Amino acid sequence: MSNSIIKYLFFPEILKGLALTFRTLFKAPVTRRYPMVKPTVAAGYRGLHALAKDDEGRMKCVGCGLCGAYCPSQCIHIYTAEGDDNKKIVERYEIDLVRCIFCGFCVEACPFGAISLSEHYEYSSYKREAFYMTKERLLENWDKYFAGEKGRQYYNKFWRPLSEDFRAHEDQALFSRIKQRGKE
Ligand code: SF4
Ligand code: SF4
Repeated sequence: MSNSIIKYLFFPEILKGLALTFRTLFKAPVTRRYPMVKPTVAAGYRGLHALAKDDEGRMKCVGCGLCGAYCPSQCIHIYTAEGDDNKKIVERYEIDLVRCIFCGFCVEACPFGAISLSEHYEYSSYKREAFYMTKERLLENWDKYFAGEKGRQYYNKFWRPLSEDFRAHEDQALFSRIKQRGKE
């Protein structure tokens, strides 16, 4: 009997499939009953955004706009104004999560460690507004998900460059030029 007739008569693929089902029938299930059983999220997971605060509780963001420029989805909107003392004020900082792809480029681009991605992943909603993160909501997220030591360690643990890489080195070209000018 040729191979094709055997296949036609006995459907070996179906038998193979049934055998596989039978072999795994009494094994422990690998699926989880979410949301009753929550998955373990790996440290450094790229979840909901937060705007970082310093130890005094002030927002670290200076409104330079680098995160927005790097964002491939163009979903970060920053509105700044000039304060009384001529300092730049970040009036609005907004992220449209519906467009965000959670790539983390905004975190990598920020020279001040001011934007972060928390490990929080449960923010589903039937309302579109829930996915439009305002400055106030992003700052609240920092208090919720990065309180204490967690916030302090976050950048150096999971992101490059490290915050210490931003320190100016003595022999940095720019600084040596300034030093030279001072001597002239
Ligand atoms: S994670 Fe990526 S897509 Fe989302 S806001 Fe940041 S840069 Fe844009
Ligand atoms: S989050 Fe960082 S990169 Fe973005 S505007 Fe603020 S300081 Fe600049």
